[in-house]
Amino acid sequence: MSQSRIIVVGAGVAGLCCALELSERGYSVEVVERGRTLGDGCCSWMAGGMLAPWCERAGTDPVIAARGAPSIAWWTRHYPGTVHEGTLVVAHPRDTVELTRFADRTERYERIDGARIAELEPDLAGRFRQGLFFAEEAHVDPRRALMALAEALRRRGVPIRFGTEASPTGIQAPLVVDCRGLAAREALTDLRGVRGEMLVIRSRDVRFSRPVRLLHPRIPLYIVPRGDGVFMVGATMIESDTRSGPTVRSTLELLNAAYALHPAFAEAEILEINADVRPAFPDNIPAVRRIGRTLHPNGLYRHGFLLAPDLARQVADSAAELLPPLEMIDADLRQRRPA
Ligand SMILES: Cc1cc2nc3c(=O)[nH]c(=O)nc-3n(C[C@H](O)[C@H](O)[C@H](O)COP(=O)(O)OP(=O)(O)OC[C@H]3O[C@@H](n4cnc5c(N)ncnc54)[C@H](O)[C@@H]3O)c2cc1C
Repeated sequence: MSQSRIIVVGAGVAGLCCALELSERGYSVEVVERGRTLGDGCCSWMAGGMLAPWCERAGTDPVIAARGAPSIAWWTRHYPGTVHEGTLVVAHPRDTVELTRFADRTERYERIDGARIAELEPDLAGRFRQGLFFAEEAHVDPRRALMALAEALRRRGVPIRFGTEASPTGIQAPLVVDCRGLAAREALTDLRGVRGEMLVIRSRDVRFSRPVRLLHPRIPLYIVPRGDGVFMVGATMIESDTRSGPTVRSTLELLNAAYALHPAFAEAEILEINADVRPAFPDNIPAVRRIGRTLHPNGLYRHGFLLAPDLARQVADSAAELLPPLEMIDADLRQRRPA
């Protein structure tokens, strides 16, 4: 590892966003990742990729929407595959109270009837009478988005050293950015895990253009289209840091909920069943903490893609405060370089 570079530990969504933001602001950056390839052992690989600041107001602090909304523009700039089709929220007639409660706690939506639902998602025609449409929301395919960030870093000359396990306290660098997610618990002792299980399925019979959320008192579910008939179905929220495979109960619940959204999902092919653990602080609000010369952007909870660009901006702002001005770093680098 070069001693003159900012070292980012971890190539999940937090690490890649921070590395890119720092590189774009002119810093020399290097990423170290213990996985052998992108996504290996990384929670970000399992995400739904919803950029849904206003829907998320239903269960989170308003600060999440305020800090998350600008990330839609950030992703659009850095990942051309960002889809701007909004989010559709529906509930079966017996769960209308859930829809009312969701509407009361959220903002920037249009109340829609069955005809409008059918216009937006023709395959849901006749299945739901009421819904909410959040037109300004967006989504990404997390795996493709992470690959796009890694490729942008490669083009900028930022190395990602895979298969390298690092301890932030042992690194000699002007600044270390610890993006190890849940693995940073020895430094951030109040970090906890919130387990999430998900499925990837392929259906030839159902097509959606946008994430669809089905409200239910017990198992709220979302389905995010990935293109080519592939859908991500998620996700459980369990207070546990167990990283074992998905349970039968959770898998059954997700499959049942998908079937309740559209019975044609019964014929879908299951491509993947997976689980990982989201890193969360006690208030579920992501933050950048500083311990000495190490910055810890963490606690992304269920908002990794929504809030990583905001944490990256905070990290780059802190770098500007903590490091000598860039021209001094440049001069130092020129001095060290052999003539
Ligand atoms: C099922 C599910 C669905 C989700 N859906 C969404 C969604 O729709 N929208 C959204 O915004 N968020 C979503 N999330 C949340 C999001 O995935 C997380 O908040 C986010 O991935 C956390 O990112 P991170 O970079 O902090 O951690 P990670 O993605 O876990 O990255 C940490 C990286 O650090 C590496 N590492 C660890 N220790 C070391 C070490 N010592 N040396 C080197 N490297 C190390 C790991 O290998 C890993 O690659 C979802 C999560 C789950 C589980």
